[in-house]
Amino acid sequence: MNAKAYASLAPYTTFHIGGPARFLIEAHNDEDIKDTIAFARDQHLPLCPLGGGSNLLVRDQGVEGVVLWVKFDGITFEINEDETLCIAGAGVPWDTVVDAVGARGIFGIENLAGIPGTVGGAAVQNIGAYGAELAQVFAYADTINMVTGEHGRIEVTDAAFAYRTSLFKQRHDLLITQVAVRLKKNAKPNFSYADLSQVVRSGALLATSIEIARAVRSIRAQKFPQDPEEGTAGSFFKNPIISLELSASLSKHFPGLPTFPQPDGQVKIALAWVLDHVLSLKGYSTGEVRLYEKQPLVIVARPPATAADVDTFAQDIAERVFKTIGVSIEREVETFGEFLS
Ligand SMILES: Cc1cc2nc3c(=O)[nH]c(=O)nc-3n(C[C@H](O)[C@H](O)[C@H](O)COP(=O)(O)OP(=O)(O)OC[C@H]3O[C@@H](n4cnc5c(N)ncnc54)[C@H](O)[C@@H]3O)c2cc1C
Repeated sequence: MNAKAYASLAPYTTFHIGGPARFLIEAHNDEDIKDTIAFARDQHLPLCPLGGGSNLLVRDQGVEGVVLWVKFDGITFEINEDETLCIAGAGVPWDTVVDAVGARGIFGIENLAGIPGTVGGAAVQNIGAYGAELAQVFAYADTINMVTGEHGRIEVTDAAFAYRTSLFKQRHDLLITQVAVRLKKNAKPNFSYADLSQVVRSGALLATSIEIARAVRSIRAQKFPQDPEEGTAGSFFKNPIISLELSASLSKHFPGLPTFPQPDGQVKIALAWVLDHVLSLKGYSTGEVRLYEKQPLVIVARPPATAADVDTFAQDIAERVFKTIGVSIEREVETFGEFLS
């Protein structure tokens, strides 16, 4: 076990900004985890798992804890009569799993192609895109309790998945070591999302999961910055879920507002549309931080922007939204180290 003291976390995140970890340790297997738990206990520091750093804003002051870079690898398949289980190490890049499943001609996760980050991070966040969510295929996650060292398994029924959240966001003691996704033999492609159905209508051949994944990646390339100088964590805010009454009143004031009824009677509204059509904030910037021109839910930062600059900018956006439409917006991106002492 190699504990790097005061290791800068900026290179470990897709924002490329933020301060150091008090200690940074790579964990490839159960033994590494056991050693790291003992090390953190000796140092009287909390443990904080890190995946691909693609949903994080690391504070400029860094993280006063032991950051555990999860590197568990390996992908295996269990083939049963009606379904295939794909079991992947928590440190495997999510998109590698999409390719591995596609190579076997199986449908089920192709709409989630191109999402950065690891398998572990995908389960924490319940990643979603193009009409699909990890929760739809998640079977279980194997975990290690970072306080007791106990091994456990969280089945889908206990994972408390909801829009961009899960049990793992509440249980900071659980480290995910591997995730199994359940892929049904009779699964069909899902073209319900407008951007994808448009590709189908254009006559493109989307017969296999590999072809669909390729199409999804090419749509995504239009929506996220491609310049390696520019840091981002994707959509910075969640789409707000509001009451039916408020949604009806907003739709009256702002005709064209995209609304998505939820199973519980509430309504999800498209924040990107509000930022663009109501507040005219597409491309809005302060210093080197801005709302991306092609997708205003995405905050982009260029050097020398700091985490504090991004945080202040995000607060400014949230205040503008609240003042104009009376809705408090929540961040999708986590501030790393915030919950540590
Ligand atoms: C360009 C871009 C596009 C994006 N598009 C999408 C999108 O379409 N849909 C979407 O849902 N998200 C999207 N994201 C956000 C991000 O990619 C996902 O949230 C991703 O799943 C985060 O995974 P990660 O490994 O990077 O997690 P990290 O950012 O490293 O960590 C996120 C959280 O998970 C915890 N964590 C990480 N690994 C583990 C583990 N093994 N055990 C326990 N806890 C762990 C961390 O402590 C932290 O709290 C996008 C991001 C970018 C940069």
